[in-house]
Amino acid sequence: MERQLDKPAIEGGVPARDTKIYYGHQYIDEADVEAVVDVLRHHDLTCGPKIKELEDKLCAVTGAKYAVACSSGTAALHIACLAAGVGEGDEVITTPITFAASANCALYCGARPVFADIDPETYNIDPRRVKEAVTEKTKAVVAVDYTGQSAALDPLLEICKEHGLILIEDGAHVIGTKYKGRANGSVSDMTTFSFHPVKTVTGGEGGAVLTNDVTLYRRLLLYRAHGITRDESLMEHEPDGPWYYEQVALGYNYRITDIQAALIISQLDKLPMFRERRKAITARYNEAFGKIPSLYVQKEIPESDTTRHLYILRIIPEKLTIDRKRFFEALAAENVCCNVHYIPTYYFPYYEKLGYRRGICPNAEKLYEEIISLPIYYAMSDEDVESVIEAVTKIAVYYARK
Ligand SMILES: *Cc1c(COP(=O)(O)O)cnc(C)c1O
Repeated sequence: MERQLDKPAIEGGVPARDTKIYYGHQYIDEADVEAVVDVLRHHDLTCGPKIKELEDKLCAVTGAKYAVACSSGTAALHIACLAAGVGEGDEVITTPITFAASANCALYCGARPVFADIDPETYNIDPRRVKEAVTEKTKAVVAVDYTGQSAALDPLLEICKEHGLILIEDGAHVIGTKYKGRANGSVSDMTTFSFHPVKTVTGGEGGAVLTNDVTLYRRLLLYRAHGITRDESLMEHEPDGPWYYEQVALGYNYRITDIQAALIISQLDKLPMFRERRKAITARYNEAFGKIPSLYVQKEIPESDTTRHLYILRIIPEKLTIDRKRFFEALAAENVCCNVHYIPTYYFPYYEKLGYRRGICPNAEKLYEEIISLPIYYAMSDEDVESVIEAVTKIAVYYARK
């Protein structure tokens, strides 16, 4: 017998939840608090031992040879582009379904972002579209592991190798995921992480670039800190004393503090449990939504053992009497407070003024019309998950096109 479902709250029914739930939230335990306090009591606040400890730990967690911790995921993308040699007049290929930083990093370097469309089922950048977008001017590809599912790294690496490009993986969503058995962070030429509070592992703010290439690693170190070095092999002049250092490139102050590094180190200890919980929530959502004809479940590729940062609910508008906006509002009325990731980057006025027009990535544009990011985070209880499922089911059934 079919379960009797209530009226959606937006139609006057009782909300699926009494209290509001949001799409993401950090999880901080006593060990995290202790780690931060310990720095405040005993260590340098910045450029101290926690930076190296964090970098070593990121290498241990991912299998990458080198890690450069920095102030944000955006800073990480910027120095990765600089290290890749991206400059004035170059082109960088990326996806429009991402946070603006994935394309802005090219603009910071005087290069032009070129948007390649997504695969309509996985929502990640489509390697075939990347191949078509390559020109003489292309320097790098910024591939995003959207929602935490790995981008198609092997096909992308093949294209990059063929054309002499650097593959930068924007791994802001991907920590904890494995691609063909290797942790993301150890596969691409460079992978960037973000430790913003909505991400799986947080430092308040923070970022990192991982690489296996020592040349890229040395450049990343330079760009993180003003282009200044104490490494004699990089200097142009003879040191005139033990205090001597040189600025050999134009870098930035993208350092991270030891306070943040300590928090990230402590959070990384919890990555296995964060991963398991996010996987369990994803599995439960997939199971529930897979049964509802008006919803489309994001395709999971077998190459990616995925830790989800985002869970994307995708409606099939032809099978509903309401659109995404109304669905979103109906969820809010159930006290399920969602978000939308992402508005295609080139829709923004800043990009329009640079000459980008709608229509260039039809799959991305269609996706944007149909998606809602549902709550997913470590501290969600099973009851929270079930209440989200109840809210979604209630709305999808009530507004099903007969
Ligand atoms: C969060 C995010 C960034 C930026 O990271 P910050 O640490 O906030 O600078 C970049 N790309 C993607 C895909 C992100 O989700």
